[in-house]
Amino acid sequence: MLQDITSRERRRGRSVGLVPTMGALHAGHMSLIKRARAENDIVVVSIFVNPAQFAAGEDFNKYPRDLASDAGMIQDKADYLFAPEAWALYPSGYNTWVYVEGLSEGKLCGRFRPGHFKGVATIVLKLFNIIQPDRAYFGLKDYQQSVIIRKMASDLDLSVDIVLCPTIREPDGLAMSSRNAYLAPEEREAARALYEALQAGAGLVRSGAGPEKAKTEMQKILSSRPLISEIQYASVYNPETLEELSAIEKTPVLLAGAIRIGNTRLIDNVLVNELK
Ligand code: AMP
Repeated sequence: MLQDITSRERRRGRSVGLVPTMGALHAGHMSLIKRARAENDIVVVSIFVNPAQFAAGEDFNKYPRDLASDAGMIQDKADYLFAPEAWALYPSGYNTWVYVEGLSEGKLCGRFRPGHFKGVATIVLKLFNIIQPDRAYFGLKDYQQSVIIRKMASDLDLSVDIVLCPTIREPDGLAMSSRNAYLAPEEREAARALYEALQAGAGLVRSGAGPEKAKTEMQKILSSRPLISEIQYASVYNPETLEELSAIEKTPVLLAGAIRIGNTRLIDNVLVNELK
């Protein structure tokens, strides 16, 4: 069992880095694996499309899965691949959930994906308990997830270091995501608007504009693209509490957005660290 392997490695004084993913690996995932490789003796990649983080009607069934190709991509970049079946992690009668209050429901994606972060926190804690990593690597692309996992690790006194890694983008700025594969060519073209909007908002914030002005500009850019079927949110937030800001008093400041193009839901964010 992987648990035995990683505990043996740790007893030998080897550090273990974990990169949790849902597979359909791309350069964003690979950047996390590279960082884990540089900072640990042993690198474990998990691939698990976690049913508990998808609500009814979301894309659990059609989420891209290609374990053979993923395994090939990481073959010489990680030491172990952990790809359990759902029944092994959630046997019948499974009944225990981790819920990080205050940062999950009602904030950003939590408003549109009820129960999502409960599923995320639960699977991440289960993976930590199985693999017992010294460090675990997450992308800032899923900003709210990263805040929730850090909070869980701190509130539950976990000894794992949570390492957050920058968002890897396509040449036109679109954040890499396994869900980009759903986009038809004209939708893919429209998708670049999300990062454009965030950049425009960030530029305004950097040069001293208030959150309202930045939000208006982002919404204007997004609503001018016909293939964007819904703007779920696009605004300026406190990066720790995830509260929407009505004034900017300090940095960093988070600009985040979620849109739908056809049936595909895309999220992205940028942090503004300094004001001019
Ligand atoms: P996922 O497979 O989408 O659940 O993502 C697994 C991990 O990779 C999460 O920590 C994500 O935040 C991270 N990730 C996904 N896309 C990117 C990206 N474009 N750049 C950096 N990290 C990413």
